[in-house]
Amino acid sequence: MLNSVSGIRFYSSFVLLLCYAAKVKVTSSKGIEEVKNLIKTVGIPSKTSSPAKSLENGNWVKLICGASFEDVVDIRNLSLVYTLAGVNCIDCAADVSVVSAVNDGIDAAIGICPLPRPWVMISVNDDEDLHFRKAEFDPEDCPLDCSRPCERVCPADAISLGAQKSTAQFFYGTNLPETFKGGVLTERCYGCGRCIPVCPYDKIRVSSYVRDAYATSELLRRNDVDALEIHTTGRQIAPFKELWDGLGDSVKRLRLAAVSLPDNGESTVSSMNAMYSVMEPDLCCFNLWQLDGRPMSGDIGRGATRESIAFALRLAAIKERPCGFLQLAGGTNAHTVDGLRKVGLFQTASFPNTTGSPNSLHPMISGVAYGGYARKIVGRILSYMQSQHGIASIEDYPEHLLKALREALSLVGTVKCYNPFPANT
Ligand code: SF4
Ligand code: SF4
Repeated sequence: MLNSVSGIRFYSSFVLLLCYAAKVKVTSSKGIEEVKNLIKTVGIPSKTSSPAKSLENGNWVKLICGASFEDVVDIRNLSLVYTLAGVNCIDCAADVSVVSAVNDGIDAAIGICPLPRPWVMISVNDDEDLHFRKAEFDPEDCPLDCSRPCERVCPADAISLGAQKSTAQFFYGTNLPETFKGGVLTERCYGCGRCIPVCPYDKIRVSSYVRDAYATSELLRRNDVDALEIHTTGRQIAPFKELWDGLGDSVKRLRLAAVSLPDNGESTVSSMNAMYSVMEPDLCCFNLWQLDGRPMSGDIGRGATRESIAFALRLAAIKERPCGFLQLAGGTNAHTVDGLRKVGLFQTASFPNTTGSPNSLHPMISGVAYGGYARKIVGRILSYMQSQHGIASIEDYPEHLLKALREALSLVGTVKCYNPFPANT
């Protein structure tokens, strides 16, 4: 896997360079004016506050680029679009090229409209975790009559197959059939696993990895990372402690330390308390619990968000939980806020013990993180743009930026309560 990761890094830097080199300097000022007008119409400058204030106000929104998603061109453009849409945080893979791409997208967005800068968060894991894996298969092993369901089911367009002459043909003559070429585009695969059960020939495997604590601590020492998220199963404290200890005093530079965990039923709060006691002596910043309902499923449909809401409802009722903001993720989509409203959890006042300050009163749920769904609604515009213009910076094509921004606003606005805007604004 190490070679693969190095390969991704090299690829990422290379593609990012290409992206910059191809950047068209002259943008359509009329198109960019339309983008600025849309931002004004929905009221972002007056309704968007700093990340810390948004956490306290219960209207925090985080874009999840994906702990394993490393396509720096898409990540840069997604970061630009969602910064303009007013997100408070952008969560990405713990990789130098990816972090640079996120910061570049944020800088470009702020150059268009001076909005509060979102925090940049990197995601790591303390043990095996669904978010930290890549699918892989040898396309030459695939039967040629396979209808390639893996390609169709992949939400990240991470599988690409074409036909080629068999390598065996080179050695054994010319009458051998063609084989598939291509396979998984490693930098785009984010480990959702949907391709595995649809393969009729059981050809797809996954390769898991754990982010290295030392490399993470080095990344945190740079000046362009604000927040860290640790993905954990919450079932064992030892790997969590080992990772936290391995990060050393780099955690003292953080503005936010988040833990992403699944609902482990009765044991959830006790494991949260155990993790909090590990972190507490070094915590000089806010902390947050990401309630991971149904991982990597928000793009599947309306019902995907139910588990994260049920998780939030259960946890909000338990007063013995440790300090820290609560934020939803895992299956979140355009229906999440409606679901929160129905159960009385959307921006509703709560009891003390939310932020560590005993006298503070804040909403029980501080906000929502959007991943697969957020990437899907903007990603289809990015794909179309790429098919028309090749690798590009989205601000160089304001008509696409406007479309992408409308999509992003329709999602972020559910939490931020933006003013409505006409479909063709
Ligand atoms: S694991 Fe998910 S993202 Fe990766 S190739 Fe399979 S379907 Fe695509
Ligand atoms: S579904 Fe399986 S056999 Fe078919 S192309 Fe995909 S990986 Fe190969």
